Amino acid sequence: TKINKAACVGGGVIGGAWAARFLLAGIDVSMYDPHPEATRIVGEVLANAERAYGMLTMAPLPPRGTLSFAKSIEEAVQDADWIQESVPERLELKRGVLTQIDAAASPSALIGSSTSGLMPTDLQRDMKHPERFFVAHPYNPVYLLPLVELVGGQKTSKETITKAKELAATIGMEGVVIAKEIEAFVGDRLLEALWREALWLIQDDICDTETLDNVIRYSFGMRWAQMGLFETYRIAGGEAGMRHFLAQFGPCLQWPWTKFTDVVDLDDALVDKIGSQSDAQSGAYGIRELERIRDENLV
Ligand code: NAD
Repeated sequence: TKINKAACVGGGVIGGAWAARFLLAGIDVSMYDPHPEATRIVGEVLANAERAYGMLTMAPLPPRGTLSFAKSIEEAVQDADWIQESVPERLELKRGVLTQIDAAASPSALIGSSTSGLMPTDLQRDMKHPERFFVAHPYNPVYLLPLVELVGGQKTSKETITKAKELAATIGMEGVVIAKEIEAFVGDRLLEALWREALWLIQDDICDTETLDNVIRYSFGMRWAQMGLFETYRIAGGEAGMRHFLAQFGPCLQWPWTKFTDVVDLDDALVDKIGSQSDAQSGAYGIRELERIRDENLV
């Protein structure tokens, strides 16, 4: 089982990075994005990815696949066996694009959506062959981070998810199958909870953005990179393991430290505060420089 040709519909931050992942795995990619500067934008992401892969000391890479830009969705998806939709996060737009992909794709092609939060059942509603459609939610930078959350809708076949997991492995990705569809799946729900609390801490002047980032990166950020939440907490429970941990720390959930139930009011004052702290934190670096630092750290 392998992908012979991939199609990327939408070539922004995420679509461009999907293209890079396919290309550097030796797979030809046909890209469709109507943005007038799509070629430059995708080219820059690809250059980032090539520099990052150049730093990896693993087995030699296969010869790079060929990238071509198509003039239409129909042209892009011809003969593709994995089609990845990464257009902006708007239900109606995605439905329209997916209907076009569905009509032009080979019946055996898999069609994945990069959506961060929309439900696959809603996205596949108007498709003629919805059984081969699924959410394939990646994390940025897609060419380095292995996770792809695989989520089926009511009309997605089990075979599609099984095949998607197998094919994802051939491009170095860890396809994690989410058992039931839910908005934002698993990863982004966890991140949103953390993000919401972080915004409170900044608003209430408990710390600034740089301090908050340091708290994460010098501690559980490193821990999370090698073990998840539950295995880490199991260790925290000592020899008695998870049950002991739950007995010890379970009760404090009754008087939560966090303000989770409220959402901060992102008014002008708070946006200004976060914006200027963030500028002070990394304003000396442009976005490409920050991406380079991120990629080097990840490698
Ligand atoms: P983006 O705005 O950077 O890119 C979207 C691209 O889609 C643009 O280049 C635009 O020209 C193109 N586009 C618009 N209409 C199109 C059409 N009809 N056909 C083809 N291309 C079209 O957005 P993004 O951040 O890359 O997000 C894309 C998807 O990926 C969204 O669903 C988003 O939720 C998801 N996602 C984003 C992230 C992230 O960190 N940015 C992470 C995971 C998933």
